Amino acid sequence: MAAADYALRIGLFGGTFDPVHQGHIALALHVLARCRLDRLLFIPALLPPHKHRRVAPYAHRAAMIEAALADYRQSGGRVRCSRIEEQLPAPSYTYNTVQALMRQEAGWRYSLVIGSDSLLDLPLWHRIDELLQAVDLIVVKRDQVDHDQVDRMLGALAPAFVRDGDCGHWHGRDGRVALYLDDIELPVSSSAIREELAQGKVPAALPPPVLGYVQRHQLYGWKGIV
Ligand code: ATP
Repeated sequence: MAAADYALRIGLFGGTFDPVHQGHIALALHVLARCRLDRLLFIPALLPPHKHRRVAPYAHRAAMIEAALADYRQSGGRVRCSRIEEQLPAPSYTYNTVQALMRQEAGWRYSLVIGSDSLLDLPLWHRIDELLQAVDLIVVKRDQVDHDQVDRMLGALAPAFVRDGDCGHWHGRDGRVALYLDDIELPVSSSAIREELAQGKVPAALPPPVLGYVQRHQLYGWKGIV
């Protein structure tokens, strides 16, 4: 199917978002504009398969994303939070989520949006070979990863992606593409934010509505004053 045959181009940005931070938001807005997507969905994982620590309840993590996005009206409502994983069996495998979305909206073209740190884990994802035949891949720079490292990781996947010159573009099977965006880098992580909150600090990278939510619900060991 040619790109023009798709009704809408949707970016799927899955994660634990424990909590959502300015890095996630800036990344989403950047990808939306750079890749000319019609919509970008934050998809909080109900039960993340790769996290082995306790995470905040799903309802809180989803509500924090919604609170943060309410502040970003300039995206014209094109960046949203999807609670689809709430209705799917746990653990939250992206393959199952994409299948469920495709059953709802068959004519849309989906791109998986990940930070380059997640590229390392990708070979371990559930039914990754089938997933990579169903979606495009948009990888955003994180942790100083360069083009050659991305090329090696994309080339080692099955099905493999083959580099197309030096412009951050790779070809996969069945017309699938992978893009690497290295024009934005955001040194922020949820783990650093959780640590700061537990020490009673106010993390600079926490969107103000999310900080308010954390304080009201006393999340992440926050004991400070509201
Ligand atoms: P933690 O520190 O708890 O591991 P995190 O900050 O990595 O959390 P996640 O919710 O695990 O946040 O990440 C969701 C997705 O967002 C992943 O694909 C991750 O690579 C990407 N991501 C998170 N923060 C950044 C960032 N600062 N720059 C680029 N990608 C990021």
